[in-house]
Amino acid sequence: MLIVMRQNASEEEISAVVSAIEELGFDARPIPGSNRTAIGTIGNTGPVDDTAIRGLSGIKEIIHVTKPYKLASRDFHPQDSLVRVDKTTFGGNEFPIIAGPCSVESEEQIESCAEFLSSRGIKLLRGGAFKPRTSPYAFQGLGLEGLKLLKNAGRNHGMKVVTEAMDMITLDDVVEYTDIIQIGARNMQNYPLLKMVGQASKPVLLKRGLSATLDELLLSAEYILNEGNQNVILCERGVRTFDTHSRNTLDITAIPVLKEKSHLPVIIDPSHSSGDRKRVIPLSKAAIAVGAHGIMVEVHPTPAKAKSDGAQTLDFTQFDLLIKELKMLANVLKVTL
Ligand code: PEP
Ligand code: MN
Repeated sequence: MLIVMRQNASEEEISAVVSAIEELGFDARPIPGSNRTAIGTIGNTGPVDDTAIRGLSGIKEIIHVTKPYKLASRDFHPQDSLVRVDKTTFGGNEFPIIAGPCSVESEEQIESCAEFLSSRGIKLLRGGAFKPRTSPYAFQGLGLEGLKLLKNAGRNHGMKVVTEAMDMITLDDVVEYTDIIQIGARNMQNYPLLKMVGQASKPVLLKRGLSATLDELLLSAEYILNEGNQNVILCERGVRTFDTHSRNTLDITAIPVLKEKSHLPVIIDPSHSSGDRKRVIPLSKAAIAVGAHGIMVEVHPTPAKAKSDGAQTLDFTQFDLLIKELKMLANVLKVTL
């Protein structure tokens, strides 16, 4: 339930509504807006009987929200949420590009990426240190050493960094070294981990699970928001379908639907969506055209030698081509690259 207060509602009237909601046994979340305050009801699993609230003064409208998620829903927060990371803003008119290797492999590799990407104006460097690999025999990441190399490369080249948190044991280290905490597709429904990143002080990049519906993605975001962390960026990274033409299928429709349902910024990962570097530029162009709030793309100095996801990773020349193509579209769409 969402209670929209009148424009001139007093503090006392707002407090009275908050108390009435609490007396019903729910949490009340006042959401101040530019014109008026709305008050959200949290904690109910079904419809709320609003008899005790309806008669209070200062109320303009009571909206019964039927969606299972609330804090993530546009009903609760009509304006787009902006997630700021240093000089970058997700959710506005910018189209931020997060770029870097799938995994941090060595100092030389991550420094080379950071040097190249920063020279192209990229402000956010990605690189996995704890890697969720399908095979236990595949490269598992450099762990803490990888976090340090990533942070240093970012610092040396004026970039902020993004890396994945895989579990609760290593979360504190990830939070210490990263600027954005990535929750990977495989962990989208790891609810204890979501609760913990909800208490963390850094923004969260939440990737859609391999077979998760959009409502399930938004409920996972709800776990993080409900713990107090309002800085959540959603990421469509492709889902499993019946077809084998690509590693995953980019659900391009997810972008307008998520923007309709939620106020949270949503970006696209064209690398994991396709699994093939030939498709990364076309999918990135689709991302900017469909209204995504940015992309996250895998880049490596020598993709053929990458320890993970080489086939979907761009080299530096291909990355330059990507930027060139995106610039043309950004001009037409009046989006800042
Ligand atoms: C990654 O970003 O390298 C990654 C493992 O992504 P996902 O969780 O989407 O598979
Ligand atoms: Mn990867």
